[in-house]
Amino acid sequence: MLQLFDTARGRVVPFETREPGKVSMYVCGPTVYGPPHLGHGRFSLVFDVLRRYLEWSGYEVDYVSNITDIDDHIIDRANAEGRPAEEIARKCETIWWKGMDGIGVKRPTHDPHATAYVEQMVELIEQLVARGVAYETSDGVYFDAKQVDDYGLLARQSIDSLQAGARVEVDDDKRSPIDFVLWKLAKPGEPSWPSPWGAGRPGWHTECVVMSLDLLGDGFDLHGGGQDLAFPHHENERAQAVALGHTFANHWMHNGFVEVDGEKMSKSLGNFTNLLDLIESTDPRAYRLLILRSHYRSPVEVTKATADDASAALRRLDTFARRAGELPLAPPDAAVLDEFRRLMDDDLNTPGAFALLFNLVRDGNRSLDADDDTGAATALATVREIARAVGLTLDEAVDAVSDDARALAAARDEARAAKDFATADRLRDQLVAQGFVVEDTPTGTQIRPA
Ligand SMILES: [Zn+2]
Repeated sequence: MLQLFDTARGRVVPFETREPGKVSMYVCGPTVYGPPHLGHGRFSLVFDVLRRYLEWSGYEVDYVSNITDIDDHIIDRANAEGRPAEEIARKCETIWWKGMDGIGVKRPTHDPHATAYVEQMVELIEQLVARGVAYETSDGVYFDAKQVDDYGLLARQSIDSLQAGARVEVDDDKRSPIDFVLWKLAKPGEPSWPSPWGAGRPGWHTECVVMSLDLLGDGFDLHGGGQDLAFPHHENERAQAVALGHTFANHWMHNGFVEVDGEKMSKSLGNFTNLLDLIESTDPRAYRLLILRSHYRSPVEVTKATADDASAALRRLDTFARRAGELPLAPPDAAVLDEFRRLMDDDLNTPGAFALLFNLVRDGNRSLDADDDTGAATALATVREIARAVGLTLDEAVDAVSDDARALAAARDEARAAKDFATADRLRDQLVAQGFVVEDTPTGTQIRPA
């Protein structure tokens, strides 16, 4: 059975689902005001792998991930560029999906948008005000955090220590620095929606609590996101749900940071911190491999060297799949798959699972070298199964230009350089007979399938 670290309990616990065979999960999505960065890529891949592994294990997964399409950042960018906020959000959302599709992240089952849920958010805030856990100030409505007994659970800190550490804003009329905004009154020219407290927009923490409970219901299985979201974002979502008597997420999962050595990155890789640039400049599958080689709770360092290393490892996988791809199909090795499950069930030990995968590739190549077709075919079937479970596609297409044809083209270049035109013509005819188009270029003979 899958065991996962739960942020609320601070330890690894069995992952129990509300309904047998079904998983309901909510992962906080992006605020769409710029291109996705490497941190977005990491959380999306970590939860994509969890989802795929659960599906591979036979669960039906309801995966909800929201799009925050109204927020201060979007408004700031709209004001700076003199464009409507919706236009910024719409454009950035298109770019977001392009990035996610690029790294092979499966689309969520539902992708609720904040702007489609404003009425329900207003209703939730009204309930909080009616219960006396939210109050109006001159600039909006705030949540009174002290009224939730275990506030601070996901920060693993007491209310008192959170309060002592909180920054007090000069012009704040909140009752306590840990109170958070539920409704922000609009300034002139800002996008706004009507509410009993005046035109404005909802706070970010209200968005996710409303959408997760609406789409997944009370006591849904897992709530996830990057480690920076645990506090205050997730804690504030939880506090609102608890204050209204809801059972919120049963399990909290957070992934570690992406560490990018700024100077090194900018020198060697240019604008590498943008996910789209990364997938354009390397094999787009490489980021999944790079992320999975670290445990999801550990930091990951992304450098040119780690990205190149991941690309090289992928080539080893592809090469083995191509070499063994012609063999008759064999069933996967059940014992190796059991070991894979044991590793993944142990709080998603993907570094261990990848070590297992690359050992299989090494053994499979040895089997091929020893003409052990059954051994190689079994290894390939097992590799394919593990790759599928973690969402890694293998490039099994056999190169259209064979090594033999390349050797003929190289021999033809040598013959031409030696002015042996008879041999060069003979080699050309041979290539044409093998089905290639042969072209003379400044860099030598170029061939491609006819
Ligand atoms: Zn959220």
